Amino acid sequence: MTDKKVTRIGVLTSGGDAPGMNAAVRAVVRTGIYHGLEVYAVMRGYQGMIENDIVKMESRSVANIIQRGGTILKTARSKEFFTPEGRKKAYENLKSHGINGLIVVGGDGSFNGALKFSEEFDIPCIGLPGTIDKDIAGSDFTIGFDTAVNTAIDAIDKIRDTADAHDRLFIIEVMGRDAGYIALHSGVATGAEHVLIPEHKTDIDEVINSLQEKEKRKKLMNLIVVAEGDEFGGGEQVTKYIKEKLPNADIKITVLGHIQRGGSPTCADRILASRMGYHAVLCLMEGRNNVMVGIVNDQMHYTPLSKAVKAKQQIDEDWFDMIKILAS
Ligand code: ATP
Repeated sequence: MTDKKVTRIGVLTSGGDAPGMNAAVRAVVRTGIYHGLEVYAVMRGYQGMIENDIVKMESRSVANIIQRGGTILKTARSKEFFTPEGRKKAYENLKSHGINGLIVVGGDGSFNGALKFSEEFDIPCIGLPGTIDKDIAGSDFTIGFDTAVNTAIDAIDKIRDTADAHDRLFIIEVMGRDAGYIALHSGVATGAEHVLIPEHKTDIDEVINSLQEKEKRKKLMNLIVVAEGDEFGGGEQVTKYIKEKLPNADIKITVLGHIQRGGSPTCADRILASRMGYHAVLCLMEGRNNVMVGIVNDQMHYTPLSKAVKAKQQIDEDWFDMIKILAS
């Protein structure tokens, strides 16, 4: 906690973009202005902070963006911000605008940066989890996850139609980096036969046996959803392995890729981002520092940035028992 009053705040989006970031920026700008603060947009994440790419926002600056994917503030990964010299430049630029509070929408890397920055300088930082990967502890959901999952579901449903028409085995790789939540949620929601994620060790021979057993029952249409960070190294590797074991099977692979990052945010993401953005400003006004605003069991939840950085969520084994039974 700090007893210094914030008067001018900055907001930036950093790391990978996620649908809903604009809704969060809108909420920060309008809540700040409502409470008499001046709000500044820092363009292109920490790189814009270093290059003094900082613009004053008005309430109208964020009109007509709640429904837009991407981020109007642009985002970037900044090598220079890893250096003390880069962070000092960034600090001096914020100071030159009189900015004395910062809200960072991004992933755990961005929180690492914010934590370092606010430990070195007298500018409190509040983090909002903006990442499609949902790999941050301290919030049940992250901004962008729900949209990414729905995009994946939409694509997998379409793949199911063609897989069914041809009685094919389809392997679909989804994003998530080293987290498997997009795969887990989209796999369950599309009725996939198998879901391969890094948090759960897959017995690949059991997958092969189950496909062979299904072949005997003439169930030839199967969907396997693979997280890109899965232990086998993603969909291509899994496909190669299964083709070796089942040379007669008709197997196709689709890598969904960056479509999962884009698009208009879902209702859930717009609400999540609006609530988080609104509360981030209140946090700064209450004198909080170095916390991530999350929502747990529908309640606002504040996690020290140091913990949001390190911890990962757990996935219960029960999910895999359910997938097996529902796909039988
Ligand atoms: P995503 O999960 O979508 O990749 P992220 O926020 O984790 O988002 P990163 O590229 O890891 O994305 O981090 C964004 C930026 O945060 C980096 O480019 C860098 O500028 C800054 N950053 C990350 N880690 C640190 C650190 N340890 N010290 C200083 N700055 C950091």
